[in-house]
Amino acid sequence: MIGITVLGATGSIGVSTLDVLSRHPNRYRVVALTANSRVDRLVEQCVAFRPRYAAMVDETAAEQLATRLRTLAPEVEVLAGQKGLEFVAALDEVDFVMAAIVGAAGLRPSLAAARAGKRILLANKEALVMSGALFMEEVRRNGAELLPIDSEHNAIFQCMPHDFARGLDEVGINRILLTASGGPFRNLPLSELGQVTPEQAVAHPNWSMGRKISIDSATMMNKGLEVIEACWLFGTRTDRIQVVLHPQSIIHSMVSYIDGSVVAQLGNPDMRTPIAHALAWPERIDSGVDTLDIFQVAHLDFEPPDLQRFPCLRLAGEAMDAGGTCPAVLNAANEVAVAAFLEGRVPFTAIPRSIEYTLGELPRREAADLPTIFEEDAAARRVANEWIRISYPGVL
Ligand code: NAD
Ligand code: MG
Repeated sequence: MIGITVLGATGSIGVSTLDVLSRHPNRYRVVALTANSRVDRLVEQCVAFRPRYAAMVDETAAEQLATRLRTLAPEVEVLAGQKGLEFVAALDEVDFVMAAIVGAAGLRPSLAAARAGKRILLANKEALVMSGALFMEEVRRNGAELLPIDSEHNAIFQCMPHDFARGLDEVGINRILLTASGGPFRNLPLSELGQVTPEQAVAHPNWSMGRKISIDSATMMNKGLEVIEACWLFGTRTDRIQVVLHPQSIIHSMVSYIDGSVVAQLGNPDMRTPIAHALAWPERIDSGVDTLDIFQVAHLDFEPPDLQRFPCLRLAGEAMDAGGTCPAVLNAANEVAVAAFLEGRVPFTAIPRSIEYTLGELPRREAADLPTIFEEDAAARRVANEWIRISYPGVL
């Protein structure tokens, strides 16, 4: 039996992961589940999966969880606080760690899994954006395995030869074609972008996801973060990655070879496919996803992205090219701006403006170690919050 920790079990990816695991009770055993503060859902999951540990960051929530489980599932040990996440990511009895916490909060537990030499199923792209060089080095040094859950990166992984780590040139790859749906505002007149509401922005045409990544998809910062993620995962540079708008979300990405071949991975837009792939790799298991009906799809469209409509895509590319702590600053400023937009404190179009301002205020530093990265993350949050406070006074 393969032991699994699911970090971020109560989120969109966490729930899809448990759905796949429930189809293979003789192959995988859930050792630990974690969540931030959603007690109800974690109680249900603990009752259904009977993990050895359940960890909650919020201490009050952890107390409530412990009280509820005392009668419902007394064998589950409840842990509280940030340290609990790192503990369950590194347990001896755990083989695989699903890293599905959203945002910078996922970095420390994901790194703990890397240091413990686990197979990491990485959904938490922000961890890699913040600390790419360091993260990849920890994976290498500790013999961990890193398998991408992000549907595009999982697709690219499936389209690559097994020895791609030798270098993309060495294996005859000239480009990665990273597909993007373009989100809900692909065709909205530019003059109306300033008035869109959080509800309109989270309504993604093809995917059902958490709120933060849904806003990132609407600004296309999600694709920007994914360009950075792809650079680290596949050892390449931004100029080798072409973002392709593909509104149907059926092709999940493509790899282009020097002999003229382009290899693509297709499937219904359902995260259980990449999750099942990464869980079973190099084997295949049932994910619960319907087989793609190619006749029903019928049309596949492609167009280049519009950087004027989606300035976040440009900002992410520039931050990656600048390197060092710039991607961590970009990520932190984006988290602040997205939260402010979701709370109705700033308009949609303020998201790229606050990020650009923050990047301009904080010069590049060498991302030498974790303390430096977290210092810059904190500095970027201060600058972005201050910009919002001054630019949108009166709105709380
Ligand atoms: P979500 O908001 O639905 O769930 C987030 C999870 O993280 C929850 O379990 C929550 O309890 C936990 N969490 C939140 N804040 C935390 C904190 N401060 N400390 C500890 N835990 C915390 O998010 P999601 O859509 O499942 O996305 C998770 C990650 O996967 C993100 O990095 C996202 O970019 C990535 N991803 C998601 C999808 C998708 O389809 N949802 C696709 C590709 C990549
Ligand atoms: Mg993706």
